[in-house]
Amino acid sequence: MITERIAALREALKSRELDALAVTKIENVRYLSGFSGSNAVGIIRSDSATLITDGRYREQAGREADGWDLVIYTKDLAAAIAEGLEGAKRAGLEDSTTLAFHRRLLGALEGVTLELTDGVVEELRTRKDAGEIELIRAAVECARRAWDTILPMIQPGVTERQLASGLDYGMMTAGADKPAFDTIVASGPNSSMPHAGVTDRELAEGDLVVIDFGALKDGYSCDVTRTVAIGEPEGRSLKIMEAVLGAWDAAYAALAPGIATADVDRAARKHLEDAGLADFFVHGLGHGVGLEVHEKPTLSYLSKDTLEPGMVFTIEPGVYVEGVAGVRHEETVFWNGEKAEILSREIGPI
Ligand code: ZN
Ligand code: ZN
Repeated sequence: MITERIAALREALKSRELDALAVTKIENVRYLSGFSGSNAVGIIRSDSATLITDGRYREQAGREADGWDLVIYTKDLAAAIAEGLEGAKRAGLEDSTTLAFHRRLLGALEGVTLELTDGVVEELRTRKDAGEIELIRAAVECARRAWDTILPMIQPGVTERQLASGLDYGMMTAGADKPAFDTIVASGPNSSMPHAGVTDRELAEGDLVVIDFGALKDGYSCDVTRTVAIGEPEGRSLKIMEAVLGAWDAAYAALAPGIATADVDRAARKHLEDAGLADFFVHGLGHGVGLEVHEKPTLSYLSKDTLEPGMVFTIEPGVYVEGVAGVRHEETVFWNGEKAEILSREIGPI
């Protein structure tokens, strides 16, 4: 699979008239080489693939980056990359690098034109292969098991922080490397903040509680949000809940081969418009999930992306009304080219 990824990247470089690429984003390095450490740069050329890392990772890189040439740098990473790019005419450098590093590399290069590239490897990563889908399933399974362990804890008197740490502990006990992002538990008045942190607030009767969590396992993430009602929430909260679930269904029903992701977002937004709540849906509908928890494609009315086989993404409409309540419902979805599968379906019911 890795060999195919490198072959696809070489094609992409050819069409951009680049004869080399310095891959600096660590998730991209992992995607192409299998190396799971935290510091490495990959140099892809038409006839070679070189992994440049530091001494801490000598053994690990040797084991994981099968078929790659290995270079251990001691002092100057820019000089090691410049050496790897020697003889290239036009080389790419991923634009996620820092300006300072770009400058250092320019200073170290001789006779090589350096171009900043935008999303070349990320584009390949949007179409996931079967192995990647299995890894995301494994991440979902960790999240599911954690969810099952905290469900009985969701009661008046428990704090947001206790629930969040219960989920984090549950995911790691189930085999996750770590939570894929900071778990959100936003209860009652905190639920109307889409990216609330976690506080020591105790859950109370009538609360809606937005719980957004995901596991990272073997490099791959999942991302799920459930909104739970404690006891009997007031009518307005229930109306919001119903509208958000309806918007989720509308977006899911809109999925079709080749559809613009902007249209999927619009389907959800339309549903909320009809409920008079569209102004309170203040973020995009969803995002790709994989080696990063937010990656391509983007599902928003501003996006130019279209649905392609192998994409894994979230659908997560939300409505946040200050002083009333917030609701978000999020699933991680796999599009196989013909139909969608809700990978996170087993997390629930609520
Ligand atoms: Zn989420
Ligand atoms: Zn998300």
